Amino acid sequence: MDYSVIADAYGRIEATSKRLEMIDILVDLFMNSAKDVVSRIVYLTQGKLYPDFVGVEIGIAEKLAVKALVRASGGKEGDVLADLQRTGDIGQVAELYLANRKQSTFFSKVLTVERVYEVLDKMARTSGVGAVDMKMAVFAGLLSDASPMEARYLMRTVTGNLRLGIADMTVLEALAVAFGGGREVRGVIERAYNICSDLGRVADMLVREGVDAVGGLCVGVFEPIRPMLAERLSSPEEILEKFCGKCLAEYKYDGERIQVHKQGERVVLYSRRLENISSQYPDVADLVRRQVKAGEVIFEAECVTVDLETGDMRPFQELMHRRRKYGIEAAVEQYPISLYAFDMLYVDGKDLTCEPLTVRRIALEGVLERNVQLQVAAQKAVCSPKELEDFFEEAITGGCEGLICKSLARESVYQAGNRGWLWIKFKRDYKSEMTDTVDLVVVGAFHGRGKRAGAYGALLLAVYNKEKDIFETVTKCGTGFTDKDIEDLHAMLQKHVIPRKHSRVLSTMEAEVWFEPYIVLEILGAEVTLSPIHVCAMDAIRKDSGLAIRFPRFTGKYRTDKSPQDATTSKEIVEMYQKQLKQITN
Ligand code: ATP
Repeated sequence: MDYSVIADAYGRIEATSKRLEMIDILVDLFMNSAKDVVSRIVYLTQGKLYPDFVGVEIGIAEKLAVKALVRASGGKEGDVLADLQRTGDIGQVAELYLANRKQSTFFSKVLTVERVYEVLDKMARTSGVGAVDMKMAVFAGLLSDASPMEARYLMRTVTGNLRLGIADMTVLEALAVAFGGGREVRGVIERAYNICSDLGRVADMLVREGVDAVGGLCVGVFEPIRPMLAERLSSPEEILEKFCGKCLAEYKYDGERIQVHKQGERVVLYSRRLENISSQYPDVADLVRRQVKAGEVIFEAECVTVDLETGDMRPFQELMHRRRKYGIEAAVEQYPISLYAFDMLYVDGKDLTCEPLTVRRIALEGVLERNVQLQVAAQKAVCSPKELEDFFEEAITGGCEGLICKSLARESVYQAGNRGWLWIKFKRDYKSEMTDTVDLVVVGAFHGRGKRAGAYGALLLAVYNKEKDIFETVTKCGTGFTDKDIEDLHAMLQKHVIPRKHSRVLSTMEAEVWFEPYIVLEILGAEVTLSPIHVCAMDAIRKDSGLAIRFPRFTGKYRTDKSPQDATTSKEIVEMYQKQLKQITN
């Protein structure tokens, strides 16, 4: 299949901001594709070659991509760099240089999707001596055969800048229409995706075996399951009301969520974002090998640093020391951890995700050999606000963030990939009148002055609007950053600078620098107010007004475990606003 078909579809997707149009274009693309390339098209459209958990990354450095472009186009490196500086978009620059290339190759071959995928895969897997030269040469070969439009998307793909603004759910919907018979089957396809986290695989299965086969997919070891998430409420009364008077309250440990997969001696650990983080926690893998008595198992736990002498839990920030490539042995020694298991999803051939919570908990307790380092989450069945309140205080005293209250109903299944009312979190911040932490996405910045000259003085932050799949600004924050944060953030954000506002960002405020939505920060706000400037939940409360967070302050927590789509949603801000009103009027 010709790569130009994909490039053409991407061009049309880029030209629209309407989700329904995007779906139509994707449906068209899928239906015009040969069966055996659909999965590759799905990955390429996500800017990937494989699902994230495989850990094969497509990216090459911008410098190298520029060199390949120089070789393929006959342009001068200095000119390419100057144009890149001017436009900030390497894809646009590639398109320009290939349109004006000095000599076109006489023997150029048509670019096929198969060849593009194969070459990118080879590049991604090459390492060691000579890898850089080899990557440059093969990529220049691809570019030489590309049309200007194809070069635009090839270049953005290899440098990790393919910003089409297509969310996974949009791809799922297009697949449902193209191969499942219509939007009605999206639920079935979504469930399959939620339990295997591999959109390409689901697409392939759908095309080859049909929707019934997709509906029959079960969880499997080493295929990470998209995590179940909790809703939030701020009073024990409301929580118990939601659960018809009774629920299971569990300590909410403040660490890193880990999904453990074990088969015999092989153990793989996945983060909340489903990246393979086994190398950061060799001690966890050992613990699992020693103390989990089952051949095959998938369970979830919160990993917390602890003081081995006192057994006390340590702050979440200490886990940052595990996020490194080298020197992990020293970090293991210096920052020991404990694992608090809270859910069991699969054991020895049995998929437990459709079983009620109590069944999963019994299975969990049945396979763990517990000690200080491997425990199950403390829990208590509660049926009165007083009991819930007391258990909450106990959790806080014990060093936890609060409670996760869980449904005890028969329908209390594990809702992979969903934030629903079967789990409700109850944290300390929600108790204080108008104080709350939220996780916001950095979408823009303003240059610093004085002490912050040369760095960013304030950041423009946004929430995620799940329905529209866009990011809406909610506040501008310049408080709570240490000097080190200012320095670190500047470095972190450089990779995500873009020349103009991102197509998925809604903002009336003009930032001085724009970023692609990527970095998520935890922010503590004093209150949510109506705002003529910020566009979060525009018109939801009052016509022509959005909502804003007043007096925002960075808490010091970088939510590297969250993707921008995991940030606080505009709907949650509306709920916070309404809650506040209630508190004021009561
Ligand atoms: P937050 O922003 O509050 O840290 P989150 O957005 O990462 O949460 P939520 O669904 O809001 O995710 O809260 C659930 C998180 O709480 C889980 O992702 C998990 O990491 C953590 N957690 C700690 N203890 C438990 C527990 N006993 N059961 C479930 N999740 C727990």
